[in-house]
Amino acid sequence: MAQVQEFLEQLYQEFKGNSEGRLASYIPELARANADWFGISMVTLDGRTYEVGDVAQKFTIQSISKVFVYGMALEDYGREQLLKKVGVEPTGDPFNSLIRLDEDSKRPENPMVNAGAIATTGLIAGHDPADRLNRLLSMLQRYVGSEVFVDVSTFMSEKSTGHRNRAMAHLMLNFGMIDQPIEEALDLYFQQCSVLVTCHDLAVMAATLANQGVNPVTSTRAVGSEHVRDILSVMYTCGMYNFAGEWAFRMGIPAKSGVSGGILAVVPNRAGIAVFSPLLDSHGNSVRGLKVFEALSKQYGFHLFDLSLGRCNFASRD
Ligand code: GLN
Repeated sequence: MAQVQEFLEQLYQEFKGNSEGRLASYIPELARANADWFGISMVTLDGRTYEVGDVAQKFTIQSISKVFVYGMALEDYGREQLLKKVGVEPTGDPFNSLIRLDEDSKRPENPMVNAGAIATTGLIAGHDPADRLNRLLSMLQRYVGSEVFVDVSTFMSEKSTGHRNRAMAHLMLNFGMIDQPIEEALDLYFQQCSVLVTCHDLAVMAATLANQGVNPVTSTRAVGSEHVRDILSVMYTCGMYNFAGEWAFRMGIPAKSGVSGGILAVVPNRAGIAVFSPLLDSHGNSVRGLKVFEALSKQYGFHLFDLSLGRCNFASRD
């Protein structure tokens, strides 16, 4: 599939000069990112990688972690129990919005925005905070295929500046939406956001979801196949903040973005793709990331509902 590699290189050249957007600046660690960083990585279900640019640059996973922690909560509680605690309704509001947290709802709207993510993280099973963190890191390791670490300075910054997230947790506690000790839930949430990954790692993680929960590089199961459908459904409807509807409409595949500039997308039964470029648009999505996915989706017919398309499966026989 030399053409795939060539196409990625072409996209890299086409968009690397695009300097629209801004770096996230709410903590110093993110503001220090290099605006030129740009990587594209695709991992196919037979474990092959096509990639270009800064695919080995480490950055913090941020909101993309929400996808995987939701998967873990599904494993810990099962679909119906979890649904009682955290909904699956898209909000159309920014990721850090407090608007939907009102007394009538009894549960946060969905696990891909901060309120629902903090509540989901608070549900993760474990004997104590260290055990919960270890379980969460081992889970991420299964998706990545190697050891993952928390960036301590990002964690400390998130923790000391996260007043809005803390306010959400307090509101949810007040409304009886969560009942765990909220400082522990917040710490674990800030830790999960501060896990270091590369663009390549994100592509492997996405490919694992595309492959029904089995990491195609290590052949290790990362999550039960029965949960993949639920994970991809919320990614599809809620994964791109208040751009989720337009993303679904244009790209037609489940995806999740993070404030450090990563976007991870799953092409079910075909491939996992990640783009990393820290310049963000007003929704908090990577500007170059959106451009790359738009071009890829068009070129390779990703849209799940475009039934007229012949599909390229990125397997050697294609
Ligand atoms: N740590 C960030 C927060 O909770 C993550 C936000 C994001 O990536 N959108 O605000």
